[in-house]
This record gives sequence, C-alpha cells and structure tokens, in this order.
Amino acid sequence: LFRDNAIRILIADDYPISSKVLETYARQWVYDVVCCTNGIHAVELITSPNGPELAVLDWMMPGLSGLQVCREVRQRTAVSPYVYMILLTAKDRKEDLLEALAAGVDDYLTKPYDPHEMKARLWSGQRILNLQRELITARDALHIQATHDTLTGLLNRGAIFDIFERELARSQRDHTPLSLMLIDIDHFKQVNDSYGHHCGDTVLQEVTARLKGAERLYDRVGRYGGEEFLVVLPGCDLADARQVAERMRETIAQQPFALSTHNLPVTISLGVVSISGSQDTHDPDELIRAADRALYHAKERGRNRVEIAAIEELPLARSNRHS
Ligand code: GH3
Ligand code: MG
Ligand code: MG
Repeated sequence: LFRDNAIRILIADDYPISSKVLETYARQWVYDVVCCTNGIHAVELITSPNGPELAVLDWMMPGLSGLQVCREVRQRTAVSPYVYMILLTAKDRKEDLLEALAAGVDDYLTKPYDPHEMKARLWSGQRILNLQRELITARDALHIQATHDTLTGLLNRGAIFDIFERELARSQRDHTPLSLMLIDIDHFKQVNDSYGHHCGDTVLQEVTARLKGAERLYDRVGRYGGEEFLVVLPGCDLADARQVAERMRETIAQQPFALSTHNLPVTISLGVVSISGSQDTHDPDELIRAADRALYHAKERGRNRVEIAAIEELPLARSNRHS
C-alpha cells in the first residue's frame, strides 16, 4: 500500500478536485499518500495491515460518512497502532464539531481550508505519530529481549515453553502428532574447565547454529537451560522425530568445532517424546519430564545418542486418566 518511511496518510474524499489538491500538497510536504472516494473503502484501508497512520476524512461521502468511518475505526479495538483522524467538512456549527469529537476524531478542519493551516494540523498529528513509532520500536525491542536469549539468539526458556504449551493444545484439539526433544551437550563442564568460559560460550553458539541448520520449517528451538535445548516439533510423529534427532546428533558429532586455537570434538545427547494426537490429553510438564528421563537414559547409555521416551510410561493428564 505504502512505499517508504514517511508518515502514511489516507485522503478519503468523494470530490475528485479537492482530493487531488490535498494529495498534491501532502506529497509536497513529504507524506506517503493513498486516496479513496468512499467511506467503506476508507475503513478497509485504515484497518488493513500496515495501513495509514493518519486519515483526512471528508464528512459527506458515499458508503459511510467520515463520522461513521471514525466511529467504526474507534470501535474496533484491534485497530492498532492508533490512527490519527482529521475530519474535513463544510459544517462549521459548534454542534457538528462536538459530534465529531465525540465520534473520536482527533482534529477538525472546516472547508475551504487554508493550506498553511492544513500543513500545521498535519504536523501536530505527525508529532503524535512519531512518538507512537518510537514507542512501538521500543516495545518490539523489549519483546525480543524478553523472549530471547542474548548469547545464542534462541527463544528463551519461558518463550519456548509457551510455544510448546500452545502447540500441545493445538495438537490435542486437531488430533495431530507432536514431538518434543530435550538436548544436552555432553561433558560441557570439561569444555569450560579446560578452555575457559569464553570457549564454552563459542561452543554454545556453534551448537545453536548447527541445530538451526537441522530443524524443519515449523520446528522451534529454544535454550531451555545453561547447555540444554528444547525443540518443539509440531505435526511430527515418532518416526519423523527420531530422524530429526539423529540428524541433529549427527550434525554436531560429524565435524569437530573449529575454535581459535584448535579443533574440539563436541557431542550432544537427546531425549525424545512423541504423542500421536489421539484422544488422550497430556500435561506439558509431564511430557518435558518424560523427555528428560529419555535424555538421562541417553547419558547413561554412553552419550552422543538419541533415546525415546516409552509412550506407555507417559502419564495422562488428570482430566481423562480415568475415562
Ligand atoms: P553431561 O554430559 O552429563 O551433561 O555433563 P556436563 O558437564 O555437560 O553437565 P553439567 O550439568 O555438570 O555441566 C553443565 C555446565 O554448563 C556447567 C555450567 O558451568 C555450564 N554452563 C551453563 N551455562 C553456560 C553458559 O552460558 N556459558 C558457558 N560457558 N557455560 C555454561
Ligand atoms: Mg551437559
Ligand atoms: Mg545439563
């Protein structure tokens, strides 16, 4: 819809000449402009993704009036970020102004308008919108920080667990399989002890890169603990999960890690649990405990290996245990 980083403006006016004049001004004032000629289209544009941030609405328009457009947009709480709306009209009575403000317009300008005044009004809208942009950027950055691990860039423990819970609910609703993998680096303490913590960090980053290379499109990898990773595999049955797990084990073990001073062989152990998507409901913590038990077996049986949690060991969630 819009092309560049300028403030995005919608001009909704059914009268072609006044629409064209304002469009020409707005472009001169370096706004990114889209026009439409009826109220229904205006609502569609305003509520579309990456839509206009500011709308100049003619009061009298076919479809919906500017006032109705404004009410409609304000009623939809999902319209976010906030759209700054200026009503443009020949109506100049105090009652009209009050009605427009009550409908949720931010500013009100009577026709014929003075271009200097229009420019100034757009600028006051732009001040608010620039502030909103800054807040959105800061909020998005905070969200990334809150859900990602800084060392590896992976989803953090809370975020990967949230995804797991969501995917588990979805698998139970749609009766689709779901697999879960808990991965732990073998003898990682020795890496730190022998080569230092910095080297350990590099190994964590390289393990991450290799795991990311081995995941499928819809798989999600998170850093679950210090040197533990949790992988959620939606739609993936046991046979598929075993393959992915073997591929991940292989991609770590096949080639030693090239560190600054030498090459270091690294291996991982993996515990896998799969649910078939039958009627049974499972508790997320129980599934993680099952993957953890399988991981423990992988360690016990020599490391650098994949172990599968036996499905009959899986306790069902209390809700249907007796059904
Ligand atoms: P095992 O094969 O049984 O898993 O042995 P291990 O040595 O890997 O297991 P252990 O749990 O004893 O050691 C894990 C080590 O991981 C201990 C901790 O210092 C290290 N570690 C955890 N987080 C980080 C990190 O962010 N960076 C570095 N360098 N080390 C970390
Ligand atoms: Mg370990
Ligand atoms: Mg560990």
